[in-house]
Amino acid sequence: MGCGLDAAASRPQGTTTGRRRVAINGRRIRTVDVHAHCAVPKAAAMLRRPAAAVGTADTALFLESTGLDERIATMDAQGIDVAVLSINPNWYDVDRDLATDVIRVQNESMTTFCASHADRFAAFASVALQFPDLAAAQLEQAVKRMGFRGVAIGGSVAGKELSDAVFHPFWAKAEELGAVVFIHPQASGTAAFADRLKGNGMLGNVIGNPLETTIALSHLIFEGTLDRFPGLKILAAHGGGYLPSYMSRSDHGCVTFPAQCSQNVPKLPPTAYLKRMYYDSLVFTPEGLRHLAAEVGADRIVMGTDYPFPWVHTPVDHILETTTLGDADRAAILGATATELLGLPRVTTL
Ligand SMILES: [Zn+2]
Repeated sequence: MGCGLDAAASRPQGTTTGRRRVAINGRRIRTVDVHAHCAVPKAAAMLRRPAAAVGTADTALFLESTGLDERIATMDAQGIDVAVLSINPNWYDVDRDLATDVIRVQNESMTTFCASHADRFAAFASVALQFPDLAAAQLEQAVKRMGFRGVAIGGSVAGKELSDAVFHPFWAKAEELGAVVFIHPQASGTAAFADRLKGNGMLGNVIGNPLETTIALSHLIFEGTLDRFPGLKILAAHGGGYLPSYMSRSDHGCVTFPAQCSQNVPKLPPTAYLKRMYYDSLVFTPEGLRHLAAEVGADRIVMGTDYPFPWVHTPVDHILETTTLGDADRAAILGATATELLGLPRVTTL
């Protein structure tokens, strides 16, 4: 059992000096980063393309290769006890045989890695979601045989929305297994959309990524996917994109223009579904985090850093400094909620 998380042996890792131990009012908090990327060089070589979204070569974590010392040093300095690794999908356009092999290599590699570093790392599995039946089988194997508790997917798949009926077998399996589904956006818009995001400012990422998440979550709500699979545990990157910032508009669309909406879909006001999902804390300011908590509930937020991309340098302090939230809420965001959600081992002395 590797990324099984509950099978962790808690083997001491790294040095104890220089490791920041986070506490609130003297009570030690075991912190968890749910948004941290890695790459598997062997899988990238099979795909004959660069390792997916791993940042700069000097900070990226390449499993079974390089970057571990730097990664642990950064975690120690930032006060992050456990990082939950994921690989951004760059295999949604390849054939079934290659996708099968790539996913096997990646999941086996992450399992081996996590087994060796169980006190500091866990991981989301990968699946070949362009073949939903295969993805469902891969997820089942990852959860039942390899001990994963969740899976990372993109915000859309080879031009198809996640709410497309072709993905129902995958969603059904994720619900059945109780697997957390981490939705991470990547550039996948139409050419016309991508063209509008060209120019200064890296808008394809700065605006495009949160927009991709906003679109993905909105389709899952408005097409009835979340009605059909009410037990899904969805975790959205980057604070859920723009959606929680302006979510009440979603409640007013079908009221204002009922002819534009299907009867009985969704069954509940759209914002009700947002309060059932989880979000990482990547919203940058205490005011942003306060607002996200006010809209979706503090118990729906978990810490994310996007490592090795240096969007944030003090992810723990961002949460500690959001003093509009009480001690219990901040402790939950720093680690308690992710520990519960992902079935991490509860270590009382750190
Ligand atoms: Zn990311």
